[in-house]
Amino acid sequence: MRSVLFTHIRPHDLLVVDGRFADPAVTPENTVIVDGRGALALPSPVDAHIHPDKTTWGQPWLSRAHAETLVDLIEGDVRARADMTASVAERAGALMDAAIARGTRAWRAHVDVAPVYGLANVHGVREAAAARAGLIDVQIVAFPQLGLLTRPGTAELMERALAEGADVIGGLDPLGIDGDLHGHLDVLFGLAERTGAPVDIHLHDRGEPGLTQVKEIARRAAGHAVTISHAFCLGEDTAAARTLDELIARSGIALTTCALGGDPVLPVGPLTGAGVLLAAGSDGVRDPWTPFGDGDMIARAHLLAYRTDARTDEELAACYAVVAHGGAALLGLERVEFQAGDPADFVLVDAGSLAEAVVDRPIPQFVVRGGVVIAQDGQLLERSPR
Ligand SMILES: [Zn+2]
Repeated sequence: MRSVLFTHIRPHDLLVVDGRFADPAVTPENTVIVDGRGALALPSPVDAHIHPDKTTWGQPWLSRAHAETLVDLIEGDVRARADMTASVAERAGALMDAAIARGTRAWRAHVDVAPVYGLANVHGVREAAAARAGLIDVQIVAFPQLGLLTRPGTAELMERALAEGADVIGGLDPLGIDGDLHGHLDVLFGLAERTGAPVDIHLHDRGEPGLTQVKEIARRAAGHAVTISHAFCLGEDTAAARTLDELIARSGIALTTCALGGDPVLPVGPLTGAGVLLAAGSDGVRDPWTPFGDGDMIARAHLLAYRTDARTDEELAACYAVVAHGGAALLGLERVEFQAGDPADFVLVDAGSLAEAVVDRPIPQFVVRGGVVIAQDGQLLERSPR
């Protein structure tokens, strides 16, 4: 039995026995004491939408060309990646280390699968995750970034990916990229039917075409675990968008938002109020699409709060709940409420309250996984299992 008592922390001391919280009134013999230096304990955040195969993290600066459309961005991505010299495992692994040191407990990683790449990206991200088993959980989405129907061979590669390290079936703008809503969804849901894997669909399409696709996805969602990522059409300030909130909740579809600078962000209050599972992610991090991002999900909670104009402590806390509890629920992880029996995955931060932490974006003083301190003051500890 391994027991650790975290003292001098708020809201109260935490005892961890064999990786789970236990009643601190009964501290076993030989308990290791960790001085929390007065920090505030928060459940570890989850990155529910990130693209680690694209990142240049740890590499020289990449200058980006102007892009007008989504297709421009996709084509620029393929060109830029042909010039990258570091492997996917090296770049994705460097970003994983940075995310772990900022407290991230788990990733849902969208990883490009296309004839031009084969399964190299999936294998690279899986290799990086395997080297960090015990530090972070990584789900891989087999993501048809270049198109599904428009790139023959992609569907077959996605099915193979599920046997070689991927966990989730990805989709991308059935209308905007593939131009065939039903054909695209037939492939995704057919694959889901055969494999039982969850589905996670990128939907950038806005306005009426976007909403039409949401309705059709909802119609097909019964019996499957379905996520729509970005869903810009639902973040647009229109009455039509809000009329779908209850349909989405009823159909059990989860949504992820990345609170990006130039795109509509999903409204936290209305969606969670309707009972929709909402999670958040980094999206691209310093990749051919964007110079921004750092994999820090405490900072992402800040961006979500900023973009949704959060003001009250409750609104700020709700953004952190999306990042921590929403992400955990989406990935099928146990929720961390600091109750006896909960997994001891948490961060200790220098902040007076959760609301203040969301605004200040502190770097965790301690990152704790299963009761073990794995990072301190933004640095992974050498003795962390790798
Ligand atoms: Zn994405």
